[in-house]
Amino acid sequence: MKFAIISKGDATSDKIKRQIMQYLTGFDLEHDEKKPDIVISVGGDGTLLYAFHQYVDRLSETAFVGVHTGHLGFYADWTPDELEKLVIHLAKIPFQVVQYPVLEVIVRFNSGKGEKRYLALNECTIKATEGSLVVDVFINGDKFETFRGDGLCISTPTGSTAYNKALNGAILHPSLSAIQIAEMASINNRVFRTIGSPLVLPEHHKCIIKPVNDVDYNITIDHLFLVHKDVKSIQYRVAEERVRFARLRPFPFWVRVRQSFIGD
Ligand code: NAD
Repeated sequence: MKFAIISKGDATSDKIKRQIMQYLTGFDLEHDEKKPDIVISVGGDGTLLYAFHQYVDRLSETAFVGVHTGHLGFYADWTPDELEKLVIHLAKIPFQVVQYPVLEVIVRFNSGKGEKRYLALNECTIKATEGSLVVDVFINGDKFETFRGDGLCISTPTGSTAYNKALNGAILHPSLSAIQIAEMASINNRVFRTIGSPLVLPEHHKCIIKPVNDVDYNITIDHLFLVHKDVKSIQYRVAEERVRFARLRPFPFWVRVRQSFIGD
């Protein structure tokens, strides 16, 4: 089995990275940064998001596992104390894989400038670079509403506990193949009206947003910030690709939610 390790870059994470490297090469596993079967991220959820984007072109061949060196993360759920258990498991026992949905984002541009495709593990957010975001929202080809407000957040089930949660979106179990659209401070009065509730779209449903005015957009894909000009539309749906996590011990999703947000 070939492995890669991505560290957050601080002294503690780098030290743990060196330890894992030593253990795994000692067990005769091959270190391969280019085509790993497993990627071990050491740091926090942000490090795992970074690792996901580093290997986004080989999601069907690569599984991820996260060690946290700060607080318990959603993706980074192994503690440094469990390191030996983790490496022995990786080296000796074929691991199970769980697959979760990711979000496909296609940004199309005006005047023949083509399109760009992204995959998000957590979410994509869109805001106008100045003033309110004003966009028409289409669901499966039908106009649903004109949105006016700070922005929109379109998240995956595993991302539903991140930014989406801060917007009062629902927490979705990652076995649901769906995406969620949550509003950021929509303008609602006698003139302007939006649904006001988060929407959950199943697999194969498409949401397309089309700018109403000609402004630039701040688009985030997980931790990545992009500015796009000349946007014609942005399309969202559940991607055909899935993200794969190595499942080395049971850690039920709802237990993780309780431990992260409520405590023991
Ligand atoms: P960051 O360092 O600001 O971390 C944000 C926090 O989000 C961290 O505590 C991290 O553990 C947590 N987080 C990330 N993914 C999560 C998930 N799936 N479930 C629960 N918590 C999660 O930023 P970063 O490390 O670059 O991470 C980028 C992420 O930050 C974005 O994908 C977005 O979800 C999140 N974010 C959240 C808010 C908010 O809650 N108001 C605002 C901006 C960004």
